[in-house]
Amino acid sequence: MFAKHALCLKRIAWIMATVIFLLLQGCEEPEEAPPVQPTTLERIQKEGVLRVITRNSPATYFQDRNGDTGFEYELVKRFATELGLKLQIETADNLDDLFNRLNSKDGPDLAAAGLTPSPSRQDNVNTSHPYLDVVPQVIYRNGTRRPTKADDLIGKRIMVLKSSSQAEQLAALKAQKPELSYEESDQVEVADLLKMVDEGQIDLTLVDSNELAMNQVYYPNVRVAFDLGDTQSLAWMTGKQEDGTLMKAINSFLDKAKQDNTLQQLKERYYGHVDVLGYVGAYTFAQHLQQRLPLYEKHFRKAAQQRNLDWRLLAAIGYQESLWQPDATSKTGVRGLMMLTNDTAQAMGVANRLDPLQSIEGGARYFNQIRNQLPESIKEPDRTWFALATYNIGAAHIIDARKMAEAEGLNPNRWLDVKRMLPRLSQKQWYSKTRYGYARGGETVHFVQNVRRYYDILTWVTQPQMEGSQLAKSGMHLPGVTEKQPEEQEL
Ligand code: GLU
Repeated sequence: MFAKHALCLKRIAWIMATVIFLLLQGCEEPEEAPPVQPTTLERIQKEGVLRVITRNSPATYFQDRNGDTGFEYELVKRFATELGLKLQIETADNLDDLFNRLNSKDGPDLAAAGLTPSPSRQDNVNTSHPYLDVVPQVIYRNGTRRPTKADDLIGKRIMVLKSSSQAEQLAALKAQKPELSYEESDQVEVADLLKMVDEGQIDLTLVDSNELAMNQVYYPNVRVAFDLGDTQSLAWMTGKQEDGTLMKAINSFLDKAKQDNTLQQLKERYYGHVDVLGYVGAYTFAQHLQQRLPLYEKHFRKAAQQRNLDWRLLAAIGYQESLWQPDATSKTGVRGLMMLTNDTAQAMGVANRLDPLQSIEGGARYFNQIRNQLPESIKEPDRTWFALATYNIGAAHIIDARKMAEAEGLNPNRWLDVKRMLPRLSQKQWYSKTRYGYARGGETVHFVQNVRRYYDILTWVTQPQMEGSQLAKSGMHLPGVTEKQPEEQEL
């Protein structure tokens, strides 16, 4: 009986063990799944670096006194920062090179290069939301017959960037007008095309309006013939292998940049003052750059170096004040290359305002003093713009304008905000409520814009990488700056 019972128990135990074994078998992990591929964005985030390809051009990316700059650079830098990534910039030799690299296996993550989305590009790249409106423009040489319509392009020597949106436009035009002929070159940049028109090597070129705006000042003879087609919007692009995660991040960044004024600020920084010169101004400036500045450059350098200022900023002030003329005189009694008032000259120890060296010294000392006296809360680069405004209108009115900005809920430490207030200083309804009263604030806004424009131009012309470039060889550079200037490094 006992043995029978034991046998029964044994059997039950065996069955249970079998069941448990089978159950455990069933629970066993399935065969290991293949590892999940990281998304493009995850991969970039893991690597910690955003690789961006661009073109080396004043409208996109170049070196200035502080290193890398340019509209595209500044925008893409903000994007990288937002993602917590380091930015790595690569420059393409030409547009074909740019698109080839963008689509290659270990290529850059995105292209930020003043690119226009176009039908043929659609198949090869993904395109972001737009961030800058431009219009393609036909450029001709002053003194030649101005083309006014597409038909006028026939029979002309035309050159455009190879594989550019402009080349595509011309191809479409040629389909309708087979007599049209043009050349595409992958050996040049926009600046070179404009130079060739300027010097009469080609009759016409086609470039985007933003490129012309940044380059026009070096080429006194280039003129806009007409706009070819409608406004287009520039966009960033990624290769087709990108899975969309990066593009999604790009688009939300660009949308935000539009809303929070980042884009507006950058447009203001790079293009806000392009209308200041106009054609005549551009022509005159190009001449003065070659003929007048060389006489005073070393004085600007010396005065700037002693105060840790950028000589090109001082030179820009000097140009705005007197067009680099040491004997300039105004009706209001300001005189000399830096246009100092009698009082300022005395305070700065300037005995003879018409002596260019003394004038530059005095102007530099005055500007430096103003900049040092600005409230600590105003940071660079706004600090420089505020110093320029103060140089022009005096500290008291700047105090008024900053107060006004604050009352409007704007930021009194931000030049863009205070700049909006300045024109009010000449309107009674506003200036009557200020402490220091009437002032020609609108003129100050122009003054700052002009100086910034000249400063940008000087910066671009004297950038180290212009050495040996087409532009430098053309003679449109400042004598002396193609040799390495030791103090350049310290600025
Ligand atoms: N936007 C042009 C393109 O995408 C290049 C720049 C220019 O020529 O202005 O091809």
